[in-house]
Amino acid sequence: MEVILSEYLGFCYGVKRAIKIAGEHADGKSCTLGPIIHNPQMVARLQAEGVGSVEDLAAMEEGTIIIRSHGVGPQIYKKAQAKGLTIVDATCPHVKKAQLSAKELVEDGRQVVIVGEKKHPEVKSIFEWSNNSATILETEEDAKTFAPCPKLGIVSQTTMSSENFFKIVAHLLGKSQDIRILRTICTATEQRQTAALELASKVDVMLVIGGRNSANTTRLAQLCEKKCKTHHLETAEELSPEWLENANKVGITAGASTPDWIIGEVYKKCQRI
Ligand code: SF4
Repeated sequence: MEVILSEYLGFCYGVKRAIKIAGEHADGKSCTLGPIIHNPQMVARLQAEGVGSVEDLAAMEEGTIIIRSHGVGPQIYKKAQAKGLTIVDATCPHVKKAQLSAKELVEDGRQVVIVGEKKHPEVKSIFEWSNNSATILETEEDAKTFAPCPKLGIVSQTTMSSENFFKIVAHLLGKSQDIRILRTICTATEQRQTAALELASKVDVMLVIGGRNSANTTRLAQLCEKKCKTHHLETAEELSPEWLENANKVGITAGASTPDWIIGEVYKKCQRI
């Protein structure tokens, strides 16, 4: 049986950077605001090394607060400063660009639209940088009902696919005489999706590794399912030999928040089966 790794898989640049920054503050006094990434095994490993996690700033009286790659709104920085906490900012630079773009568009007097998932923490952070004034559009239906305005500014969630972004933007083109579009999309997600689809069309079974709470891993699994038999798993222990029965070729991909060591364990287990 041949086991093939996807050309692009696992940690993206922003997640790698955030994990490195968190690791540099493993002193027992530092906490991330929310889980650093949507991967329970990585969160547990960091916890064991001395980086905790809090859901709310109210839970911290002293120490260092680490902002994760999804970023936060300006009020969080102000609150942390007022509490005397040390702030370590691991916001991904691509997310930071989207946040500052939203701020700039508001300062330019524009009604801001964020094309993205309404409940995603990154979109929430971009919304807060728009002075809580942006409209979040998730679907083409949302865009169709958007009211016309004199000056419009559009940004995107970084993990949006270009295809969806432009489909939604197409409905906004007639809604204003003065439109600025800032396509703040990062290529990491698209690269992983395109490579996974390509691999899924060549193999008998796909294994998609990543947290069940990771939206980008779940999306990878949904895409692969369209091409071949697909299993979403978090760890090598979950891999059942029955899944690979009669398979000549097995493909492996992993979400942007899946650590290399878990990918390695799954790869080795496949080779032993
Ligand atoms: S997917 Fe892109 S924007 Fe999001 S953390 Fe990774 S590199 Fe940054």
